[in-house]
Amino acid sequence: MPGPAKGTRQPPSRAAIVEQVRELYDDLDFSSVRRWLAEHPTWKAAGYLPVYAPRELLHACGFLPIGIHGAGDRLEIIRGDAFYQSYICHLPRSVIEMAQSGRLDMLSAVLFPSTCDVIRNLSGIWKLLYPAVYVRYVDVPQGAKSEEAISFWENELQRLVDDLGALSGRRPTEADLRASVDLYNRVRAMIRRLYQLRQERPWDLPTEELYLLLRAGEMVPPEDFLTLAEDYLGAVAADPRRQRDNSRVVIAGAFCEQPPLGLIKSIERTGCYIVDDDFLLGNRFLTHDVSLEGNPIRTLAEAFVQNDLCSSVLYEIKPTGKKETMRDRAAACRADGIIFATASFCDPALLDQPMLRAGAEEAGIPCIAFKYAENTGQFQQFREQAGTFSDSIKLWGAS
Ligand code: SF4
Repeated sequence: MPGPAKGTRQPPSRAAIVEQVRELYDDLDFSSVRRWLAEHPTWKAAGYLPVYAPRELLHACGFLPIGIHGAGDRLEIIRGDAFYQSYICHLPRSVIEMAQSGRLDMLSAVLFPSTCDVIRNLSGIWKLLYPAVYVRYVDVPQGAKSEEAISFWENELQRLVDDLGALSGRRPTEADLRASVDLYNRVRAMIRRLYQLRQERPWDLPTEELYLLLRAGEMVPPEDFLTLAEDYLGAVAADPRRQRDNSRVVIAGAFCEQPPLGLIKSIERTGCYIVDDDFLLGNRFLTHDVSLEGNPIRTLAEAFVQNDLCSSVLYEIKPTGKKETMRDRAAACRADGIIFATASFCDPALLDQPMLRAGAEEAGIPCIAFKYAENTGQFQQFREQAGTFSDSIKLWGAS
């Protein structure tokens, strides 16, 4: 049989892509990042903590943006526990453990968004431990969608670009900034496409695979992510799966410390199709394209402030408060129920949860809630809860 025509790229199979992204997920030494930096000596790497960081600005200044998440149950915490009391979430001790064991020493800069006090404190620890690294606490605007908020954020972003440009020696022109904004618009559009397809055909696009793909997207250059995701969509189309009689659920509250992969798998295997979630939310924090007209820093600031995303890490000024948030989310993805899955001790998520849940239940949407830690290794309890929840939805539906 003749082989593929010369120059024609053989599209990888779904299994090959999933194996590739799983390897990236398991690579706590960031070997792929280190390799890439060795091959691209004019670039540096910059890390960012959850939830939102302006990745396009890092990129325009010559930094490969790297999402910093905890190591889950794949790393024993020895040094990390010395920095934190026991009654906070697991993420910071895991991140410190990775840093103290040298796993993050390829980062020349780290951004700490104003997600919560824990991440603010982590930025202070970083400054003390790693004085040679550029550390920036990124104070995202909270409050009214006002001109003042846009100006504040534009100034913050400009300061970031000035600092990063001085550090890398690559001070981006307006054209450079626009090119990076355009590239990340394409990344966001691709992620919207993946989420849309998962919502329409969750049996063809399991969340476990989608999640691994998005995690890979936080470790590889954006162009490589776009190729990987395009290949994955092609592989999904070539490998349709059988639809099952599963319940459609939203997972809410897992926007910062990520659940263990086993938890996502357990929920899917107990008869739930996840049709919306908060995982790796920074990727979807800007819900629309950033305009390519005008000053790119200004348009990025406007896109953030005028965004209509509802999140526990953003102050909301709707007159109805958070009452309708989950009702609207569930309706948008035709969900049968909501699972509030939240990292233990996560203040932003747990403070919002009673209001979000009350609003959902008032709208007649079945809900359950559980807490996890990223290093949880036992899933029996979650399996039982999610399985019973799914069965009860199928038997009785929304009350
Ligand atoms: S999991 Fe919650 S409390 Fe912990 S760092 Fe993230 S937002 Fe803060």
